[in-house]
Amino acid sequence: MLTVDEALARLLDSVRPTDGEKVAVADALGRVSVESSLPAPIDVPPFANSAMDGFALRAADGDAARRVIGESRAGGPRAPIVEAGTAVRIMTGAPMPDGADTVVPIEDAEERAGMVVVAAPSFGTHHRAAGLDVRRGQLVPLPRSPITPSAIGLLAAMGIAHIDVRRHPRVAILSTGDELRDPGSSLGHGEIYDANAPALAAAVIEAGGEPTILERARDEPDAIEARVRRGVETADLLIASGGVSVGDHDHVRGVIERLGALDFWRIAIQPGKPLAFGRVGEVPVIGLPGNPVSALVTFEIFVRPMLRAMLGLIGDGRLRVAARVTETIGKDPTRRAYLRMRIERDVDRYHAIAAGGQGSSQLLPLASANALLIVPEGVAATEPGCSYEAMLLGGIT
Ligand code: AMP
Ligand code: MG
Repeated sequence: MLTVDEALARLLDSVRPTDGEKVAVADALGRVSVESSLPAPIDVPPFANSAMDGFALRAADGDAARRVIGESRAGGPRAPIVEAGTAVRIMTGAPMPDGADTVVPIEDAEERAGMVVVAAPSFGTHHRAAGLDVRRGQLVPLPRSPITPSAIGLLAAMGIAHIDVRRHPRVAILSTGDELRDPGSSLGHGEIYDANAPALAAAVIEAGGEPTILERARDEPDAIEARVRRGVETADLLIASGGVSVGDHDHVRGVIERLGALDFWRIAIQPGKPLAFGRVGEVPVIGLPGNPVSALVTFEIFVRPMLRAMLGLIGDGRLRVAARVTETIGKDPTRRAYLRMRIERDVDRYHAIAAGGQGSSQLLPLASANALLIVPEGVAATEPGCSYEAMLLGGIT
């Protein structure tokens, strides 16, 4: 049996970052820049300007009254040069007139008969220099994380309209099983709805990939083979669910073996144990277990980091906190468990409460959980009062 960490290391070894594509900065939310930094093409702000509505003047004139000789407003015409004994009325963001070095806010000034009276200002007050935020040529870091609204704002402020980002990894998704039907149809004897295809497609999107759901396959080698062949034509990664155990009707492993190379792993993870991994041509193919909780948890632990690696991102991108349990929850001591829990904050510590039953077919607890509580190998049950690492899947309310 492989440990979770060994299996993950092997899977990460099998993927490379996708190539880049140019997108409009306005459409770059959540994408990952190919470059880790870029030189600022201009100063931001591009010109010295005022941080306040008020009067632009020379500090050296002290408290002498100044003659108001014009106005500078954002986007307006160029204001006259400020010489000794003069001032220009100025608005926030408007260019500092030549000759002025200081802005006195309107509420600290008294304007009367074309003159303005102020207390002696200190030099440079409310004056924003060109390049205050970013200097032209400065390397602006684009951290290896999904592009945020503020990064989009910064790129736009530098006048950048397009950016190279990693192409979404294309992920083909295949459900296998004679018993599966589409939601919206009616169920016959022994049939259930296919939960994995839409759930895994959503998980792919959440991880930054682009899913394609393949036509579902019955538990027949030829049907599975035909779907896998088609899927790997365009995908960067194919994930199947179901049919990976050792039952008479489990054919996913055989198909991977026939079309390419197979590694079949038993991983010391709960839920999830069996996982088929191989390549068909250059495309990694992963057979996840069929139980929906097993499929989604193994996706979370193994496939999500692979998709992130394809985007040039490191790790699973999930926050972790230490959370204290109050219950005894049994687990297989030979495997690392990922328990479906609700994490709540109590002033300065986190508590973990089971979100429901921990069976690998029980989706409701997973859907109600905001974290997976990681209980290590060697432990047979959680111990009330003990803290374990919780991997957050959502927010804490
Ligand atoms: P299998 O690995 O094919 O033996 O499937 C294990 C369990 O997961 C069985 O109870 C299947 O009915 C169930 N299962 C497999 N695929 C899906 C699916 N796409 N949606 C919901 N349940 C599934
Ligand atoms: Mg099956």
